[in-house]
Amino acid sequence: MVRTRRTLIDYLWASPGSVVGVALGLVALLAGARWSAHRGVIEVALRREDQRRGVMPIVAITFGHVVLGRTAADLERLRAHEHAHVAQYERWGPLFFLAYPCASLLALLRTGRPYHDNCFEVEARAAARRSREAPPGGGLAPGSRRYSGPSRPSARD
Ligand SMILES: [Zn+2]
Repeated sequence: MVRTRRTLIDYLWASPGSVVGVALGLVALLAGARWSAHRGVIEVALRREDQRRGVMPIVAITFGHVVLGRTAADLERLRAHEHAHVAQYERWGPLFFLAYPCASLLALLRTGRPYHDNCFEVEARAAARRSREAPPGGGLAPGSRRYSGPSRPSARD
């Protein structure tokens, strides 16, 4: 679940990642990127929808409390996934820089798919799926009983 309330400890513990994100974000802003804030996370859209594609080989990437994405639409579409990575930075702090590549190495050795089967990516995809399945407003649909999401991830992920 994506947390909505963050503490100072969350920001401090994840700050090594955020420093990297802010540095990259500042360079991007100098090059014309735009930023916004959502639920305590800075999101930097590297280009507008009508601009030519850039050289960024990935759609979005998270560093601490900073998410860099190709466009604002990409950031919105991937918000739940990237905010799950923010929560991982809050959990792992500076160790995330080591934990993520180790998880990729384990996934590579286990299945040959270092990105797709990385446990952090699996968790982020599950969070995004839960977010899509949750009714608007986050929990209770009008006239419905309490929402209870899927009990476990599907076999597709
Ligand atoms: Zn991811």
